[in-house]
Amino acid sequence: APRTVLISGCSSGIGLELAVQLAHDPRQRYQVVATMRDLGKKGALEAAAGEALGQTLAVAQLDVCSDESVAQCLSCIQGGEVDVLVNNAGVGLVGPLEGLSLAAMQNVFDTNFFGAVRLVRAVLPGMKKRRKGHIVVVSSVMGLQGVVFNEVYAASKFALEGFFESLAVQLLQFNIFITLVEPGPVVTDFEGKLLEQVSTADFPDTDPDTLHYFRDFYLPASRELFRSVGQSPQDVAQVIVKVISSPRPPLRRQTNARYTPLAALKAVDPSGSLYVRTSHRLLFRWTRFLNLGLRCLACGCLRIRIWPR
Ligand code: NAD
Repeated sequence: APRTVLISGCSSGIGLELAVQLAHDPRQRYQVVATMRDLGKKGALEAAAGEALGQTLAVAQLDVCSDESVAQCLSCIQGGEVDVLVNNAGVGLVGPLEGLSLAAMQNVFDTNFFGAVRLVRAVLPGMKKRRKGHIVVVSSVMGLQGVVFNEVYAASKFALEGFFESLAVQLLQFNIFITLVEPGPVVTDFEGKLLEQVSTADFPDTDPDTLHYFRDFYLPASRELFRSVGQSPQDVAQVIVKVISSPRPPLRRQTNARYTPLAALKAVDPSGSLYVRTSHRLLFRWTRFLNLGLRCLACGCLRIRIWPR
């Protein structure tokens, strides 16, 4: 029988692509419940799903921040059984810490961390009873190492990494697997929404030096990173499809080979200094190159450029 896959955050980006790819599985191994907070935004998903809609793909409402919405969604799934849960819904938050509200920070944790916890708690009893299941979490390379001006977002992904690594030990006993998928930059609405947020925000209480570093160093560097090593949501979805079809899924899976050198810095130097110093150089030196018009990372050759000289 096909496995029921429940995915959060399918109105756009990685969630939408994943839902469509699974629903079009040539062997029809999946019954996809593609969920989104606002059903008014289901047009793009339905168009991409094509004839899979109503066959191997159903669209349902689900706000990961609401207990009622989660209960309502699960009650509509036949038999209430979810074989694979994909925690994909997420929001970003970028900017100087002094200029961000605590409410905005709490929203990041409510969505990215507690949203996933809420869903897992809801599907886990069934998975445990059936002694099988797979929980996939769309984390980020920012769940492995911090990134400047993304402190709260990175913290929410670190929280997911710690939570699910801990849970994975117990769940092996129930034949339930956990996979943390860690994309680098992905070219989706995510970055667009963030930049929009940033361009309208005035970051009160932030000193001029910090604002200068954020606007004139971080923002251009971030745009360039997305441009040079950004992956498509299709590519990330493909990696997740592979993970879901694997008989022994890994605990962690990065998706972007061009980002690996950066992600490896922590393992190379457990003291953390190499990563912090390299990120610092990358931000402040590379941006200077960029301002001079020497787009040294334009070819994506992170591999040689990031190493401190
Ligand atoms: P996206 O903005 O297109 O997708 C995020 C989805 O989550 C949206 O559809 C949004 O509506 C949904 N969402 C937000 N709050 C929700 C809520 N309360 N309930 C239900 N859905 C909600 O961006 P994306 O890049 O496809 O992001 C998907 C996941 O990938 C996120 O968890 C994000 O943190 C992660 N990620 C993204 C990148 C990137 O560079 N884009 C990199 C690494 C990880």
